[in-house]
Amino acid sequence: MRLVLVGPPGAGKGTQAVRLAERLDVPHISTGDLFRANLGQRTELGLAAQRYMDAGELVPDEVTVGMVRDRLADEDAAKGFILDGFPRTLTQADGLTSLLTETSDELDAVVALDVPEETLIARLLGRGRDDDTEDVIRRRQEVYREETAPLLEYYADRLVTVDAVGEVAEITDRIVEALGKA
Ligand code: AMP
Repeated sequence: MRLVLVGPPGAGKGTQAVRLAERLDVPHISTGDLFRANLGQRTELGLAAQRYMDAGELVPDEVTVGMVRDRLADEDAAKGFILDGFPRTLTQADGLTSLLTETSDELDAVVALDVPEETLIARLLGRGRDDDTEDVIRRRQEVYREETAPLLEYYADRLVTVDAVGEVAEITDRIVEALGKA
């Protein structure tokens, strides 16, 4: 199963991606986690990404797609994956399509997590990550609307939209059920 999870910051992508990865037995690949791991190890990639992350801006597409290309080349990703936080721009989506075409693969579905914006801001303010000041949170929502929301159109032919308000376990069940129907 090759899946992408899309949703605004605070929609619960990370939480659901971890749970789905376990249910579907495929690796969970989060570009945010990969950037944070690189930053923790002070790699060149991590240091290059830091100023964008701190400002709630997107890391340049070329850097991001290159990092995903490397990760998808790992053996465990051959059986499938759940991408969390990638793609986030149309350029990245084209990059992903090219990567998958090289191995004659395709995405099975793109899951869009649907949550009202007021709920998102409240959730994010409660999360307390280093890059979670209110200005940065608002900027990340704006970046989502401008750069990432167009992906819903791009992936219209394989889009599965799920109401992501409610209990964590219940939302996972909704996603699995929706994927079964898709
Ligand atoms: P996340 O944990 O997904 O919220 O990502 C944290 C930060 O990492 C984002 O605010 C961006 O600065 C960066 N980032 C993560 N994924 C991407 C991506 N696909 N494209 C560009 N930047 C990204």
